[in-house]
Order: sequence, then C-alpha cells, then structure tokens
Amino acid sequence: MLRTNALTFQYNNGPAIQFPDILCQKGESWLVLGQSGSGKTTLLHLLGGLLPPGSGTIEVGGTDIAQLSPSQLDQFRGKHIGIIFQQAHFIRSLTVGENLKIAQELAGLPVDIAKVTTFLDRLNIGDKINKRTDELSVGEKQRVAIARALINQPEIILADEPTSALDDNNCDEVVQLLEEQAAAVEATLLVVTHDGRLKDKFSNQILM
Ligand code: ADP
Ligand code: MG
Repeated sequence: MLRTNALTFQYNNGPAIQFPDILCQKGESWLVLGQSGSGKTTLLHLLGGLLPPGSGTIEVGGTDIAQLSPSQLDQFRGKHIGIIFQQAHFIRSLTVGENLKIAQELAGLPVDIAKVTTFLDRLNIGDKINKRTDELSVGEKQRVAIARALINQPEIILADEPTSALDDNNCDEVVQLLEEQAAAVEATLLVVTHDGRLKDKFSNQILM
C-alpha cells in the first residue's frame, strides 16, 4: 500500500510543488500523467525516499518513511521499493548478474543467484547474465533495470517514463511486462509519464 497526504516539495528558491493525494492498494497499477515539468520525477523521488518531503506524509506499507534515519531508509528502500529510473544507471565494470547481486546485498538480503537467474529468464535475458551492461541494447538494459527493481520482490514498484524512448511495439511490451511482473510479486505499480499512449492502458489514473 502506498499513501500520501498533503505532500509538497520545494527546490531551492523554486515554487512549492503540491502533489495530489495518492492511495494505491496492494497489487494495484496506477498511472500518474502530467506534462513535462509538472513534478512527476520529483514525486517519484519523494515516494522512493530519495528526497525528503517539504511537508506532508508518505506511507509505504504502513511505514511513514520520513521517520526513518538515512541508513534505515536505504535498507527500507532496498527491501520494499523497486525504482526504474528514466535513465538506468548500472555499475559498468560489472556484469548483469553482478549488478543484480549487488541490489540484494544493498538491501541487506542474502545473495541468491538462483533468484537472479529466475528474474533474468522471466524477462528473456537469461543469456545476458555474464555480459557487461554496456554491451546490451537499450531494450535489454531496460529489462535489466526492471529485473533489478523487482529482484527483492518489493511491495512498491515506481517507474519514471519507462516508455518515452520506445516505439509503439516496445511501448506495449514494456507496459505489459511491468504489469505482469508487478502482479507476479503482488506489488503496487506506479508509473509516472507524459506519454499519452499509456492513457488507455491503466484504469487507475492520477493527473498532475
Ligand atoms: P517532470 O518529471 O514532470 O518533468 P520534475 O519533477 O523533473 O518534472 O520537475 C518539476 C519542477 O521542478 C520543474 O519546474 C523543474 O524545473 C524543477 N526541478 C526539477 N529538479 C530540480 C532541481 N534539482 N533543482 C531545482 N529545480 C528542479
Ligand atoms: Mg521527469
């Protein structure tokens, strides 16, 4: 479950951004639609605990994340929140498999290589496990980013513009993949985008 109340944020000297209240139940998929500059990425970073709220509250599965210390928050995020950033960042000197193992370690979870293999196979990139991430195509990188966000079976999956760089076919495929994978781990999925093609694909929507 993901819930916000009267959430605001202000960058240095910028205007305060006010966010609509959000209530996403376990297992639901939500789309947050808004134009460029409306605060979607900021919202995603607040929900993921990467930015502290100016005011208001953020509750993830019953935990008020603003009450956590920085180190508690890092572990909490690693275990409970999977984030797919607009631009995926991997550790380039490491392989796909090693990048996923690090995601387990950072969450304070035991390294489980069988799970890494399972997730990569499920996303049809099992054969890339020993490749470095800079040897992958854009679409393959995106799948690795999805695998990394899902590997610890988070309660909440947050995705920032996951389709904006994709053609129509790949757009459909990525949305389907995210929804399928979220359903497989019974996670709440929240996608933020300005991509109008996603309008018809989510029954639950929030306008920024
Ligand atoms: P979106 O993702 O919807 O395009 P953002 O959340 O990135 O919107 O940005 C919302 C507003 O905050 C914009 O006006 C943007 O210029 C501003 N903003 C974003 N990041 C920063 C930052 N690091 N410092 C100052 N202002 C920022
Ligand atoms: Mg953005």
